[in-house]
This record gives sequence, structure tokens and C-alpha cells, in this order.
Amino acid sequence: MDVSVFGTGYVGLVQAAALADVGHRVLCVDIDELKIQQLQRAVPPIQEPGLSAMIDDNLREGRLSFSTQASDAVIHGQLIFIAVGTPPDEDGSADLRHVLGVTREIASHMQADRTLVIKSTVPVGTASQVEAVARDELDRLGKGQLAVRVVSNPEFLKEGSAVNDCIRPDRIIVGSDDELARAQLAELYAPFCRSRDKLIFMDNRSAELTKYAANAMLATRISLMNELANLAEQLGADIEAVRRGIGSDPRIGYHFIYPGCGFGGSCFPKDLRALLHTARASGQPLRLLQSVQEVNETQRLVPFQKLQKLYPEGLAGKSIALWGLAFKPNTDDMREAPSRCLMEALWREGATVRAFDPEAMSECRRLYGYRDDLVLCATRDDTLQDADALVICTEWKAFRVVDFELLAHKLRDRLVIDGRNLYNPQQLAAAGLRYLGIGLPQVAPKAGLQ
Ligand code: NAD
Repeated sequence: MDVSVFGTGYVGLVQAAALADVGHRVLCVDIDELKIQQLQRAVPPIQEPGLSAMIDDNLREGRLSFSTQASDAVIHGQLIFIAVGTPPDEDGSADLRHVLGVTREIASHMQADRTLVIKSTVPVGTASQVEAVARDELDRLGKGQLAVRVVSNPEFLKEGSAVNDCIRPDRIIVGSDDELARAQLAELYAPFCRSRDKLIFMDNRSAELTKYAANAMLATRISLMNELANLAEQLGADIEAVRRGIGSDPRIGYHFIYPGCGFGGSCFPKDLRALLHTARASGQPLRLLQSVQEVNETQRLVPFQKLQKLYPEGLAGKSIALWGLAFKPNTDDMREAPSRCLMEALWREGATVRAFDPEAMSECRRLYGYRDDLVLCATRDDTLQDADALVICTEWKAFRVVDFELLAHKLRDRLVIDGRNLYNPQQLAAAGLRYLGIGLPQVAPKAGLQ
């Protein structure tokens, strides 16, 4: 099929590459000229496993192309994806400026019937709004005879495994009451449904709410586990034992019950805020979700609070090694990352951060620039040079296996604060390290800071 995609971010670009890879002819449009120039040379603006090769292959095969010309895309695609950003507005609501702007632009170039597929995460009622804006523009331009169909097709990919999630989706939500639009989406996604039918059809509003409901459910599990972890610490229980104990119940399962220093990223925090806003505006506030958000705000500060407690004389002049800047592994995305709360709090206190991340170093430099209290180190172990303590914020595989003797030798205060519970407390204690995880029992170190 001929498909166009507006927006070449995480969602649009990965979706476009995945569709081209199964044989569709896909044209991507973005207003960011630099991004498009790079993509035309097969250079992706984001780091996602498998993405670069997929773009390269499909560009060379001629199934994938990139442009800044909206008009070309509207002529090309019988199906037009809208995958532009929906950033939070000041009141937390989703800012629909880009979605509605693109809609108007598409309608202005339309010369034949088109199906608009909303991939962006948008509040309930947006599909009707998109349809109304498109109709309005078509009527204004004397093209009232053209049909515009709007499908709500939310995206569930996870950054860090975006390509895999896109080519092996658990489910494909298609929100539309229009028979032709449903048939078009079924044809488009048929190559992704070979093992079983993954399409779930529903109305637009339910599809829109499904996306928010999924993120709300996952965020709730994380915040609940984090609260239980903090309680476990007070009670002298081990949250990792509790996690295994409850995860083995098939009704609960192991996903999204890892305690840690809070969730971040471009989706959970933003989507929670938007859903809370929608709920308040509709007169049906979500009290539970409000707490989920509040718990996360405070949880992101837990590693810093642990440091504060251990250094009652203050953190000024301290040098803190930091492993992990990205909000989660396998991405360079630092939007709302817990590492940022930690670094900013440490800087306010006058401490220096010596940081390493396998992917997010340039992103960190882009965000914070050059400053004396931020040292970006070439390797994980370089961060330990002259450091007083180590904090871990992201559970990268590269941090899993560590020489604890080396840590004990290098860290001046022999202190490790682990925001992701990566290690066995006994092993660190045996190496003479003081180890504080999230909700883990304290094991007295063989020697060192008491
Ligand atoms: P992004 O910010 O990475 O990319 C958006 C792109 O849209 C940018 O490249 C921007 O230049 C482009 N754009 C803006 N206005 C445009 C216009 N008028 N014409 C063409 N391009 C335009 O965003 P993203 O992370 O891909 O997210 C897009 C949407 O998908 C959001 O609503 C987000 O909530 C949702 N979503 C994101 C994820 C994720 O993991 N990132 C997952 C599921 C859903």
C-alpha cells in the first residue's frame, strides 16, 4: 500500500521503517530539515536497536523515502499517519497544536479521499476534532466532495525495543466505525498478524482511552511497588524477595513490578498528566492516579535523599560517580529521567557528578552543556576516579557484572546507592562496600563507612 507518515520521531520513523520492511511504499515527512537530510543519507536521529539497518535497507530498495514536502506526502499516501508530538501544555493537558496543524495541512493538499491514522497519543475526542478540522478545511477550499476517514491507532512501542515491538506487536488497536477504514488497516497490518490476528477493533474514543489506560496501569504497578519498597525498608523486609513472591502469582506476573528510583521518559509522566487533566475536566477525577504521579515525583529523589542522610555535613565538594543517564536502558532518551533529578539536586548542593551512560552521553551534553560540576567519563570505571560514592540510575546490561573489589578500592567512602537493585547485597558487603538499594535490607560491610 502507499502510506505517508507525518513526524519522524520514535513513533513515526520506526513505524515507517517497519511498514516499508514488509513491502509497503512509505514516504515520511518532517518539518525538521536537518533530520530529513540525515535520514535521506540513512542516518537515524535516534538510537534504537535494528533501526539503522532497517532504514538503510529500505531506502536502498526504494520502499522508504523522506521529504519535507507535505504536499508530496498527501498525494502519495492513501493512508496518512499522524505521528507528531503531543507535548504537555502548562496545565498538563496534551497540546494538540501539531496534530491539528498537520490535519489542516493534509486537508489543504488533498485531491482524493484519504484515511488519516492517528498514531500520536491523544486525548479522548481528538479523532472527532481531527475529522472536524479536516472537513472544515476541505469545505473552505471547495473540496467538500472528498471523504476523510479518521482512525485512532495508538502506538504501544517501548523505547529501547521500538523496532521489535513494532514488527511483533502484542495487539493492534484500530479505533473506527468506518468499514472501509477498518478494511484498509486490516490489509496494511496483515503482514504483522501471521502468527495470529492481532487487530482489535473498537470505536475511536475507546481506542484513545485504551492507550492512556495501558500507561496508567503500568505506572500504577511501578508506583505501588516503590511505595512497598520504601515500607519494606522501614520494616526490615527485602522487597526483592517480596517481588519474587508476588510475581510468581500468574494474576500478577513479573512485568513492571521492579522497585527503583521512579519512572521517566517521554510517555508515562506526560500521559499520566494528560489523563489526569482529562479526568478532572470531565468531572470524574482519578484519585488513585493522582497518587501514582505524586509517589513517582518523590521516588525520583530517593537516591539523593539517601546521600543526604549519609552525608549530614552536606554534599558540597563531594564527587559522585553516576552510572546511567538515559531514563531506561537501550535508549539515549533523557526526557524526565531520574538521573536528571539526581544530578540537578547534587549540583544545587555543590557536588560534582562524574557520569557514564552507554548511549546518552551526547544527549546529556546537549542538555547541560559544559560545566565544571559535570564530568562525562569515557568508560564506566573512569567515573570511579576520585569519586566518593557511586549511584546507579539506569539498569543497563553493561552495569550488571562489576568487580566489587575494584569499587571498594576506588570509591573513597566505599558507598554504592543502587536505584535499580542490580546486585546481591551480601557480595557488596563482603567486598567492604556499604550498599543501599531500594527496599533492600542493610548488610553491614566488612569494613568502610558505617
Ligand atoms: P518526537 O518528538 O520524537 O517526534 C515528533 C516528530 O514530529 C518530530 O520529528 C517533529 O519535527 C515532527 N513534527 C512536528 N510537527 C510536524 C509537522 N507539522 N509536520 C511533520 N512533522 C512534524 O515524538 P515521538 O516520541 O515519536 O512521539 C510522537 C507521539 O507518539 C506522541 O504523541 C507520543 O506521546 C506518542 N508515543 C510515543 C512513544 C514513545 O515511546 N516515544 C510511544 C507511544 C506513543
